[in-house]
Amino acid sequence: MPFLNERTFQRYLQEGKEEEFHKLFDEGIKRVEEKLGLEYPILLADKEIKTTTKRVVKSPIDTSLTLGVFQEDNGQLLEEAIKVAKESFSYWKDSDWRDRVEFAIKAANEMRRMKYELAATITFENGKNRFEAIAEVDETIDYLNYYAQILEENRGYVKEMEGRIVRGEKGVSVMRPYGAWLIISPFNFPLAITATMTLGALMTGNTVVVKPSSDTPLSAYKLVSILRKAGFPSDVVNYLTVPGEVVSMVIERNLDMAGFAFTGSREVGHTLLKKFINLKPRPAVMELGGKNATVITAKADLRKAVEGTYRAAFGFGGQKCSATSRVFVESPVFKEFLSILKARIEATAIGDPRLKSTFLGPLINKSAVDKFRRFVDQAQSEGGKILIGGRVREDSRTYLVEPTVVVDLPYTSSLWKIELFVPIILVKEISNLKEGIKLANDIDYGLTAGIFSNDEDEIEEFFREIEAGVVYANRESGSTTGAMPGVQPFGGWKDSGWTGKNAGGPYYLLSFLREQARTIY
Ligand code: GLU
Repeated sequence: MPFLNERTFQRYLQEGKEEEFHKLFDEGIKRVEEKLGLEYPILLADKEIKTTTKRVVKSPIDTSLTLGVFQEDNGQLLEEAIKVAKESFSYWKDSDWRDRVEFAIKAANEMRRMKYELAATITFENGKNRFEAIAEVDETIDYLNYYAQILEENRGYVKEMEGRIVRGEKGVSVMRPYGAWLIISPFNFPLAITATMTLGALMTGNTVVVKPSSDTPLSAYKLVSILRKAGFPSDVVNYLTVPGEVVSMVIERNLDMAGFAFTGSREVGHTLLKKFINLKPRPAVMELGGKNATVITAKADLRKAVEGTYRAAFGFGGQKCSATSRVFVESPVFKEFLSILKARIEATAIGDPRLKSTFLGPLINKSAVDKFRRFVDQAQSEGGKILIGGRVREDSRTYLVEPTVVVDLPYTSSLWKIELFVPIILVKEISNLKEGIKLANDIDYGLTAGIFSNDEDEIEEFFREIEAGVVYANRESGSTTGAMPGVQPFGGWKDSGWTGKNAGGPYYLLSFLREQARTIY
């Protein structure tokens, strides 16, 4: 069945109604502003719980603004929440898949109604500009509708088997859920990634406890509220704010947790996984970052290549697992590529993402700015040159930094190997495509990759040889970023992932299921 993606801004643009979009977004901003500073409870079944310790979350776009006051559990409530989710599993596991489809579609419709408020929430919460914020809400609506469609197409994953060994023998394959899942989501897509993992578990009959990033707990609160309103029972979808260190301790000792889904850094993911399976084997769904390459050959449309690289490297300040971090450019076009890229970067509007003109808002927090400074210093001390950028825009109320291009960095530098998650790219000259592919693969990660070339054979070779879960050719809107549910299933190979079944793709739900072969004689 064809799947229709949401694409709000693009629709307004096509119809020549760009200003209407901006007006609606500005109204969304006002609605969020009116609610700044409210307190949000932990949502555990029907209870709204307040703890004695609070976490006051500030907005990175202006740290004098309090996004909200959130509870801080010390681990006790997390254990209780997992117990609640384990108990509710006893009935949710047998819920009718048609009901789940209906609830997901209802939630998608509710999100469509609240679209601008949700998008503005993201802008306040993590500093994303309005175009990327609305795209994230669109993506979330897509996940809800897409997983509903997949569940429907697979008829709840009940399949009669055709083989017969004895007369009358009838085998049926039934995919069954595991139990209570902990969902640990990141700051960069506080709505969409929280939703994809949560829905992966819920749609398949599992129950969840949602634990958002401590920097961005508000979008997840709104998501859980919407899911509950749409019909998912409250004891099936729980919400809890708790520091990461506490989660790590609980994961190690809690045996009631059937699985966990995590999106975040490779280091944290590996540590959690080891603790989680130490006591017994259990499933984990993990998306673990990237160090993505864009390769530009002499046969590329350079204007497209610059635009695609620029957007993939600096969109949301490079704070995407899919961001382009390494760029390999064939010799004949190397210099020209750099000079067009430099001009493109000079035109970047950096600042308050509430403004419609802003492309690059702040980084998420002070430690991200410190990291940016450290990487720039390291690049220079190891022989790299800053072609453009490299500076922090000093402002005590926000975290603005410049899009940065490093050239001539010796390949021995560790910066070629580690995920940076800030707007810095390393650019290197290559003598041919083969060398570009070899360098692109010379890394433990394997999330996304992009090529710019107008030669079909080159593209074919790149796709065949590149070790990455999501690959694009000539993508001007972002050479390695912006996967859409139902179009580009998103997930990584090598150290970038775990199950090999990508989010927003036809097999994602299977990560949350185990097979039962049923036979009646
Ligand atoms: N799905 C997003 C994209 O394709 C990236 C998600 C992430 O950063 O984890 O750009």
